[in-house]
Amino acid sequence: MSRVAYVNGRYVPHDHARVSIDDRGYQFADGVYEVCEVFHGALVDEARHMERLTRSLAELRIASPLSAGAMRIVLREVVERNKVSNGYVYLQVTRGVAPREHTFPQGQVAPSLVVTAHAVDPAKSASVAEKGVAVVTMPDIRWRRVDIKTISLLPNVLARQEAKEKGAYEAWLLDSDGMITEGAASNAWIVDRSGTIVTRFLDHSILRGITRTTLIDIIRSLGLALEERKFSRAEALSAGEAFITGATTLVTPVVVLDDQPIGDGRPGPVTRKLRALYHDVAARTK
Ligand code: PLP
Repeated sequence: MSRVAYVNGRYVPHDHARVSIDDRGYQFADGVYEVCEVFHGALVDEARHMERLTRSLAELRIASPLSAGAMRIVLREVVERNKVSNGYVYLQVTRGVAPREHTFPQGQVAPSLVVTAHAVDPAKSASVAEKGVAVVTMPDIRWRRVDIKTISLLPNVLARQEAKEKGAYEAWLLDSDGMITEGAASNAWIVDRSGTIVTRFLDHSILRGITRTTLIDIIRSLGLALEERKFSRAEALSAGEAFITGATTLVTPVVVLDDQPIGDGRPGPVTRKLRALYHDVAARTK
């Protein structure tokens, strides 16, 4: 099947989708993005993703490329045209096309918008979650505003590559005090031996994961103990369970950290329960 991308107002064959070499996304990584899961043809937590997009754009003073209503239509159109039933829709907004100067372009430069959709085999992610994944820690060398979901992802790319070369699925990043911030492409969680679920609080040092936000709703509705605070590598190693969250990974158990097993080295009951409940609770809009 031929894939279709949306590029600045047009639906084009994916292989022919192009942006200018003067696009500030290409020149400066001057842009933001969102990844929204598609589950049984519906967008998951779309409203929250769109809220975060609005915030990221505002933080960088990039204009919104489309109204909320038009964005809804484009996202669905791209999902449909690519016949994605399960997978994700990716959108990227950059400050637009302008001669290469660091300062913002003068005058009215329209932001660029690209949207693509990707099918994922749910059985594959289920089998990864069934086994659990390995994580390795490394220093967090990112800038100090990673709460903004920018396309500037070089430290995340390097971290994921290093993790892969070490046989791990994800990197957990350590701040200058040796505390875990988050994963290179996911939020980080542990469940301590007393059953309390711990994840770092929201500030400028982590991304406000949408999966994280929805999972907190689930945890609260179940009446489970939750602490939003920093945790260390040592604490993670002595935890009963650990997991990561993200729109594409959902809730995925972490069973090995820096080559050492977490808990009994298998996905734990709290993690499994949270994963199982996720799609029942997350908002799904067709
Ligand atoms: N943290 C980082 C650095 C990420 O890149 C991502 C997802 O891409 C997340 C956390 C999880 O965010 P979400 O749950 O919105 O996908």
